[in-house]
Amino acid sequence: MTIQNMIINPYDALFITLEGLDGSGKTTQAERLCRALNNLGHKTVITKEPYTDKSAELKNNPNLTRVQRQTMFIEDSLEHISEAIIPSLNKDENVISDRYRDSGFAYWIGEGGKFEEILDLHEKILSYVFIMPNLTFFIDTDVDVALERMKGSRKSLGYFETSEKMKRNRDGYLWLYAQPMWSEIGRQIEIIRDDGKKSIDEISREILSKTLPFFEKK
Ligand code: ADP
Repeated sequence: MTIQNMIINPYDALFITLEGLDGSGKTTQAERLCRALNNLGHKTVITKEPYTDKSAELKNNPNLTRVQRQTMFIEDSLEHISEAIIPSLNKDENVISDRYRDSGFAYWIGEGGKFEEILDLHEKILSYVFIMPNLTFFIDTDVDVALERMKGSRKSLGYFETSEKMKRNRDGYLWLYAQPMWSEIGRQIEIIRDDGKKSIDEISREILSKTLPFFEKK
């Protein structure tokens, strides 16, 4: 699959994704954006990756190889796209996904994998249903800030949640979003830089202000 073969969301409803490290505030912001859009009369639903509980549990299994782990995530995404994303868009509901496929690419690249390899794996599993969002927010939080927030909100940290792994993951995201081809396919990528000083409200306002013009275009 070349990057041009990925399908940008062909439905009228919007498909928005939030990406970032664990602890960066994706869930908080996805919920706020969903509420704000619904309040403005734009019917919107939230979904997430990993989609199934099984994948969410398995993601912390240290015995999986890199390929097994990514294969599992992409298979999870196949279910997510066909059972949740497409049916909602088809009903004219805007979809906000708390993580989507960029996460897999960012982890893979952060671990030293090649872009073409992870693209090939997506082609094998997703084939023609690799639907791309119209708009992606990457909440780019400092690793130490994200770790502190996670420690504050949870009892234990998962497989990916060490400072070293998170740093590599952040580097993977930054590499990915610096590739012109990643946005040339027609989606808008917004990087929200957060050094730990931006309030939840401030970030919500930034996200909403970048989202609303999509409704004006319609
Ligand atoms: P993620 O979904 O990316 O793992 P969450 O939305 O669950 O992140 O946020 C993790 C914790 O950090 C939560 O306790 C949340 O209230 C807090 N948080 C999120 N964004 C901010 C922010 N901008 N400033 C301070 N705390 C935040």
